[in-house]
Amino acid sequence: MNTLEARIKSDIREIPDFPKPGIGYKDITTLLDNPERFAEVIDAFKARYAEQNIDHIVAIESRGFIFGAPLAYALGVGLSLVRKPGKLPYKCHSVDYALEYGSDTVEMHIDAVKEGGRVLVIDDLLATGGTAAAACKLVEACGGEVVECAFLVELAFINAREAKLKDQKVFALATY
Ligand code: AMP
Repeated sequence: MNTLEARIKSDIREIPDFPKPGIGYKDITTLLDNPERFAEVIDAFKARYAEQNIDHIVAIESRGFIFGAPLAYALGVGLSLVRKPGKLPYKCHSVDYALEYGSDTVEMHIDAVKEGGRVLVIDDLLATGGTAAAACKLVEACGGEVVECAFLVELAFINAREAKLKDQKVFALATY
């Protein structure tokens, strides 16, 4: 398989009807267990962002942490965490966002990103874009600038780019 995208896809395990009927779950644990592929993924993100004057990586709980941490290390920049409510110990900005049924909330420390800081938001997978859009609002609440939202996988058929992330640049290494 000669493209990185094809290699990533071949390492992702598809679980039909998880966690509920109709959802095709992308299980990335099989990719993480391939050290060569995990390294290729981090290297690809590093190559894309090394020259973009990124000041902070903002990683979304929980699988965004897996990619955000090594990328922050590779780029030599700070790592900030977007978490579910009640997990972060200091004062937080908080953003609610709608789910198909109900709503959810994400939080980030008020000083997680410096004023004017150039931020890369990262998560494992882009589905509806609700979580990533909320993370962008948290960055903006701190006075930061979102340079791009990066994902390992994008479910493009859901069209989050148009629906929820119209104002952001979006990048994914593998698209379905
Ligand atoms: P969303 O806010 O709809 O873009 O959802 C994004 C979050 O939900 C990501 O952090 C993913 O980890 C998770 N997620 C949503 N859909 C899937 C899926 N089909 N397979 C694996 N993870 C998913």
